[in-house]
Order: sequence, then C-alpha cells, then structure tokens
Amino acid sequence: MNPVEMQKVLIADDDPVNRQVLAELLKPEYTVLLAKNGEQALERAARHTPDLILLDVMMPDLDGFEVLRRLRADPATAAIAVIFISGLDRPEDEANGLKVGAADYIAKPFNATVVMARVALHLQVVRQQRLLEHLAHVDALTGLANRRRFDELYEAEWQRARRAGSPLSLALVDVDCFKQYNDHYGHPAGDRALRAVARMASSCVRRPADLAARYGGEELVLLMPDTEAAPAEHVVQCMRASLAAQAIAHAASAAAPVLTFSAGGATLAEGETAAELFAAADAQLYRAKHAGRNRVEWRQR
Ligand SMILES: [Mg+2]
Repeated sequence: MNPVEMQKVLIADDDPVNRQVLAELLKPEYTVLLAKNGEQALERAARHTPDLILLDVMMPDLDGFEVLRRLRADPATAAIAVIFISGLDRPEDEANGLKVGAADYIAKPFNATVVMARVALHLQVVRQQRLLEHLAHVDALTGLANRRRFDELYEAEWQRARRAGSPLSLALVDVDCFKQYNDHYGHPAGDRALRAVARMASSCVRRPADLAARYGGEELVLLMPDTEAAPAEHVVQCMRASLAAQAIAHAASAAAPVLTFSAGGATLAEGETAAELFAAADAQLYRAKHAGRNRVEWRQR
C-alpha cells in the first residue's frame, strides 16, 4: 500500500442526514464512499474494497447484521473492518454486533470526536496489518516476492489457468557460478549482485499479474499467467540482455567474464499438475546449465 494514498471509508446508512454528517467528518482525511442501503453497501465494498466500513445496523431490506454476514462470506470482502453504527444502544445489541465480527460499535447519536478517534484507531490497525502482510510476502534482500508468496500465487494461478484453459508460463532463473562470485568478491558484493538480477527481473516482468520471486539462494522464479511460451521466453531473454548490459564483472565464472544466469522455462501443458510444470521448468534449467550456462532453455511442445 502506498503510504501517501488516502485510506478508503465506506459509509452505509439509509438516513441521508447521517450519511452527510459522517461524510463531512471523514472527508478531510479519507476517501469517502457512500451507500444508502445494504445492497449498495455490498456492491461498493466488492468494487472498491474500502479499508473500513461504517455500517448502520438499522436499514430496510438488508440490515447491518445481514450485510456483515454477506461481506464475511465473500473472500473479496471478508477481511474488511466494519464498525457498526446504530441507534440501538442496548448492551445486547452491542455484544451481538461484536459477536458477528464487527470491529467496533458506535451508538447514535454519535459524538464527532469519538467517531473520528475510533475510525483513526481502526484504520491504523488496518495499516499495520497490511504492512505485516506485505513483510510476510517480501524477500528482504531483493525486495521481490518471497517463496511463500510464490507458492500461494502459483497454486492459485495454476487453478485459474486450468479452469479458464488459459496459458501459464513459468521460468526458473539461476545465477551462474554464484558460489564462485561470493568466494571471489565477498558476500556483500554477492548480495549486490543478487539485487541487480532482481532489478532486471522487476523491470522485465511488468504486467500486474506477473510475478518475480526469489525462490531461494541465487534462484528466482518468474510466473507469467495468460502468457504463451514465446512471449514468456522473450521476457527471460529481456532479463538476460539487461543483465548483460550491466556488465557486472565475474572473474571467477566458468560461463562468461561477467555475471550471467541460466534459465529454464515451460508453459502449462494439457492435464499437467502445478508440480509437473515446475519440474519441467527445472529440467530445462538443468539443460541450460549443462549446455554451458548463460542461456535460456524452454520446453518445446
Ligand atoms: Mg438506519
């Protein structure tokens, strides 16, 4: 999440005066979205994934409890924080709201300072959670996605490709003679070299659905959904050319006088499992290494 981007708050209330009062309060600090009933609240939540929803309990048709239940049932909106706002100030209603998963409960008539303080508090929690999720998915050395993130997305993308019958390409990239590089230039230089390769990966793997991850050690993995073999191989060749243009000296390499990598790739075949596709890319990487390194090998159909 971009830290300067305003957080989004959805206000769902059937009373236009309440909507307006809350919107005026929140507008200076947040991006405010409005819904005048439960259906609209669900639609806007799914479309805009706000960071927080202020949800009126008493609304005609879908009440706040039902809206929250449906939000939780949809994976796309299940994690959105919800604060109930209600004229029901009986303690059992508050308890009920919290039991069904509201983060907080504000009774009407509300006090502006209290509303602002609670909204700020919950949005702070949301921010911290996002940061933790981000850190849990990022490789600290290279800034690329980490293996855990790759594993999650790979499984999801494989499922999606199978369902949609769309192509899915996978490439494994392994820096050539990296142990020798570390031995020769030292580990800090080795870290810099890995970061350079990671930068090449980030600059060549550019579409939003594509993923470049550090798989381990000096090995990266590129996941390219909706990509046939030829354009996928082109991405890896682009990365190889970018690294060659950097001409990072590698005096101890058996492949070239500069830092290079070998890569193996494969595109999902009919009936193939995710593990089989991965093994196929790995076999191509092995071929690339044994053919003299500093090259890309792609499985032929
Ligand atoms: Mg109401």
